[in-house]
Formats: sequence, structure tokens, C-alpha cells
Amino acid sequence: MVPIAAPSPIAANLARVRAEIAAAATAAGRPPGSVSLIAVSKTKPQDDVRAALAAGQRLFGENRVQEAAAKFPPLRAAWPEMRLHLIGGLQTNKARDAVRIADVIQTLDRPRLADALADAIQREGRHPDLMVEVNLGDEPQKSGIPRAEADAFIAACQARFGARLVGLMGVPPADADPAPYFAALAEAARRHGLAQLSIGMSGDFPAAIAVGATMVRVGSAIFGTRPPPPPPPERAA
Ligand SMILES: *Cc1c(COP(=O)(O)O)cnc(C)c1O
Repeated sequence: MVPIAAPSPIAANLARVRAEIAAAATAAGRPPGSVSLIAVSKTKPQDDVRAALAAGQRLFGENRVQEAAAKFPPLRAAWPEMRLHLIGGLQTNKARDAVRIADVIQTLDRPRLADALADAIQREGRHPDLMVEVNLGDEPQKSGIPRAEADAFIAACQARFGARLVGLMGVPPADADPAPYFAALAEAARRHGLAQLSIGMSGDFPAAIAVGATMVRVGSAIFGTRPPPPPPPERAA
């Protein structure tokens, strides 16, 4: 007997998440096509990304520039229409690599990074779309511009990057009702005339779609749970 390959759980998970996105959009009176699904493949092997590509997924999110640089260029050769979003806090010394590989950088969150990205864009002759990340709960361990500085920083980035500054991104505090945080970011996007709103993860994307998310970043609901991140390195005394 010829064994039949089991259908990938990734394909089934993607179908379920897409259906849930469509249902949440319809419930909010929005066209289902107004929400893009970013499949967050951080820590997952290239084969998992291939399975998602085979199931029709084209938008991917990664947290770390080095991991993305190792995983994506060979896939892009086979699927030129795929798009890579960087969604993890970005060090200024990685700005040039980020500009080289990303289609969208969602985590522009401080003036020094804006300087580094502008410089990298000029040197590389390549301009990814950019989004400002706001630290929705002003949590010290998270990236994102503090809320009190967000309006001025967004306006400065719009002046500097023009239409390439496409929207706002945020992650609400883990233990809180995300709805008010999502609504505050949606309001900021409206105030600044920005079309893209990247909010919502595996645990809360329907609530994000209800207030206007145009991109949801879903990892574990598609690719399965991830091992916990390693503890931070010991600080030298
Ligand atoms: C990991 C990550 C996600 C996806 O999280 P899940 O809970 O696995 O869906 C979304 N956004 C950011 C910024 C992340 O780091």
C-alpha cells in the first residue's frame, strides 16, 4: 500500500483562522478582505513556512532579523509574491539587514531607529513600508514608543517617510482586557490618517478586528505552541 501523507495541521489551522477572521469581520460589518493575516513563524522551521505557503499563505511575520534572513531568502526564490513583516523590537545595528530583507517593518519605535532606518534605506536603495509601534500599556519590558510621546513621533515619521509610513502596531498588556488598548490605537491611526492597524494575536484577534484591525499577527494558532524563550543572559557584575 502506498502511504498517504497526512494533511498538514498547518493547512487545517490556517483554514480555521481564516474562517474566524472572516466571521469577526462580518460581525463588525466589515468586508472579510479588509483584514490581512500575517502568519507569525518565529522559532518555527522553514518546512513549517513551506507548509503554510503550500496552503496559500503569503504574508509572514518574524521577530528576529537574523532568523528571518536565514529562513526566507530561499523561499522567496520559489514564491516571489510572499511578503515578510518584521514585528520584533529592532536594534539600530540591525537596521540595514532589516531594510534588506523586510517588506514591512512594523516596529519603528524611537527617533534613533528612525535615523538608522532612513540611513539604511538610502544606502540600500530599498524602502520597506514602515509602521510605528506604540507601547500600549507603557510596559518597561516591551518595545514601542511610550503613549505620551506617540503623537509627536508619528507626526515626525510621517514628515520624514511620507506615504511609506503606513500605519500603527501595538501589543496590549498580557493580563488585561485588550479592547480599550486596541480602541486607543485605532483612534490614533484615525487621527493621523493612517490606513493600517496591526493589532490582534492568536488569543485576541476577533476583538482587534471588531475595532478595525487591518492586519492580525497570528502565530501559535497556526504553527502550534512555541517553547518558552530562553532566560535573558546573566548581567556581568
Ligand atoms: C509572537 C508574536 C505574535 C504572535 O503571537 P501568538 O500569540 O503566537 O499568535 C504577534 N505579534 C508579536 C509582536 C509577536 O511577537
